[in-house]
Amino acid sequence: MTTPDIPAERPRPNALPGAGLIDRFGRRITYLRLSLTDRCNFRCVYCMTQDARFAHQDRLLSHDELAAIATAFTGLGVHKIRLTGGEPLARPGLIQLVHRIAALPGLSELVITTNGSLLERWASDLRDGGVRRINVSLDSLRPERFRSLTRNGDLAQVLRGIDAAIAAGFERIKLNAVILRDRNRDEVLDLARFALAKAINLSFIEAMPFGEVGEHDRPENYYPVDRIREDLAAELPLVPTTETTGGPARYYRIPGSQTRIGFISPRSHGFCADCNRVRVTAEGRLLLCLGNEHSLDLRSLLRAHPGDITRLRGAIAAAMGAKPEGCDLGPGIAPIAFRRMSEAGG
Ligand code: SAM
Ligand code: SF4
Repeated sequence: MTTPDIPAERPRPNALPGAGLIDRFGRRITYLRLSLTDRCNFRCVYCMTQDARFAHQDRLLSHDELAAIATAFTGLGVHKIRLTGGEPLARPGLIQLVHRIAALPGLSELVITTNGSLLERWASDLRDGGVRRINVSLDSLRPERFRSLTRNGDLAQVLRGIDAAIAAGFERIKLNAVILRDRNRDEVLDLARFALAKAINLSFIEAMPFGEVGEHDRPENYYPVDRIREDLAAELPLVPTTETTGGPARYYRIPGSQTRIGFISPRSHGFCADCNRVRVTAEGRLLLCLGNEHSLDLRSLLRAHPGDITRLRGAIAAAMGAKPEGCDLGPGIAPIAFRRMSEAGG
């Protein structure tokens, strides 16, 4: 799936390398979510269909192209990169790529989001390669339910992956749980207790209306994070904190534990005013906003001018003029049909 290019003529809020990326609304862009592949070994019901199709291999960015994009962004003041997908751990040669990106001057945080299925094998190599923090998606602790939500996932394998990540000594490990009304809302407390027992963090995420997901019924399954928080607060003391990671999560602490619990609510609370991020898809589209089509084809530019980081930086800086002020993913809003979350990188 592709989206149209942003128009050629646009304001250029800043195009000077070194000036940093600032959009028309004064927001400084310091965070890139870089998708390494659109492919995945799971088929989560809210993310893609059972028979999801993927881009031809030639259309995906090569390692050199991914490294060039990371280089251009860090040269423009981006200091945090999240590797995502699809399933980033399924990308061949991942560890070499991690070493290349981690070594970029100016990058202070290299982090990754994974479904955990391949983590047992790769956790310590990722840590050694310079990944500081890791997010693992985990929507259920019941093997049968986990298999049905992911359509083929093995819970035991993911749990071994989480233990391997803990043993590897990441600075922070966070679980991400998408809560669906008719599927797993009864596991909110179990998931929180699991995170407490492992002394790791947990964020609950509202399902968002992205892409074609087949028989999964979206409106029926929407369960707002306010409800999740109420369910949890009935059983656990939640103390609000002002901590932020610059994203859409609101955080709470549980007294006497290390665990931080976040509630990510793009649908029921707007978070665009503080947006500090952009995304690049595995096919090299620079997405300026999760909920809007505005995008720029970086792959064509890279293939027309291989290795020309100056040109790439200029194009990225100019594209900031097209970053929209915000998006509306609220309840009742039509699905963003043009791309799946696995293409946008979460
Ligand atoms: N495959 C990896 C994983 O699952 O962690 C990384 C990519 S996945 C697209 C990133 C995050 O997006 C996951 O935590 C996943 O649960 C979440 N996600 C996918 N589709 C979503 C949707 N429609 N609404 C909300 N979150 C979604
Ligand atoms: Fe794969 Fe992640 Fe999408 Fe699940 S949420 S299908 S693991 S990309």
